[in-house]
Amino acid sequence: MKTIDIHAHIVPDSMWRAIESKQDWHGFRHEPGEGFGTMFANSQRTEFSSKKLRYTLEERIRDMDEQKVDVQVLSIHTPFVGYHLEPQQGLALAQDFNDELSSTVRRANGRLAGFATLPVQVVGLAIAELERAVTKLGLKGASLDTSVNGLQWDEPAFLPFFKAAEQLGAVLFYHPQPRNNFLVERIKRHGLNNSLGVILDDAIVTAILLAGGVLEKCPDLKICIAHGGGPACMTMSRIDKNWHDRPNTRGTQKPPGSYLNKLYYDTVVGDETTLRFLIDRVGVDRVVMGSDWPFVPWHPSPVKWLQDRETLSADEKEKILWKNLSALLDIR
Ligand SMILES: [Zn+2]
Repeated sequence: MKTIDIHAHIVPDSMWRAIESKQDWHGFRHEPGEGFGTMFANSQRTEFSSKKLRYTLEERIRDMDEQKVDVQVLSIHTPFVGYHLEPQQGLALAQDFNDELSSTVRRANGRLAGFATLPVQVVGLAIAELERAVTKLGLKGASLDTSVNGLQWDEPAFLPFFKAAEQLGAVLFYHPQPRNNFLVERIKRHGLNNSLGVILDDAIVTAILLAGGVLEKCPDLKICIAHGGGPACMTMSRIDKNWHDRPNTRGTQKPPGSYLNKLYYDTVVGDETTLRFLIDRVGVDRVVMGSDWPFVPWHPSPVKWLQDRETLSADEKEKILWKNLSALLDIR
């Protein structure tokens, strides 16, 4: 058995080098402060809330050993996707990150895999970079924010991107931002921008992809939603009811909820009751282990936490811990 974690973050060394030499990193400016300080861009400040974000490869692998995780699939720390940048600067950020990620993955002897980041502000550039990332750099697909500068993912402009991802067999991992999501402007108290804002955005992107017909138009597209899709599963009955009751609002041939089990969802859901609900709703073949490394503390580890769940069968645990991701990402 090989345990595989689809949800682990990385800050590239190129950013730390830029900080040390007092240079901007692709339009992100470093401001010294507590801990590693903050990065500022697009009127948004991002702090580094975990020391592990500066781990070397060796330190990361030692930490994975302690967590009993055999393979981490790495994606960029989401505030650094840079969708607000001018196209060429966005492309440079993506190429820089993806080249380094590919090299890190190659040095890790099978312990790491990676998702590219893409300049989705220009669909053509995103398609070209995804193709390069998958065919030349050996990455497994791409991680994506849940909206693109106010545009939603069911816009017809994105369809060629989904078609390209489908053809490449690339996996798309949707992950919202803690400080740039639907809820951020509404309330800044109680940490709700992260605890609730992030998972609301997971549900919003799930609903938009399904109700917008992306899975209908691209039936072989491989998509995973972070944080178990947030409340997506719970809200789908109402979205389906709307589809039945108000035919003039339909964007799909079949009710959106009928595509719910075409997506994958990770296990970063908070508790066992929610995980059980997710499995029962989408099927165990669609649930995969995620840890949200290094931001979510697991007691004692994401693997042991799953192994200890009493409401999951041994077969379900095997599928979630490695079998589903081994097949999805072709990790043997
Ligand atoms: Zn995350």
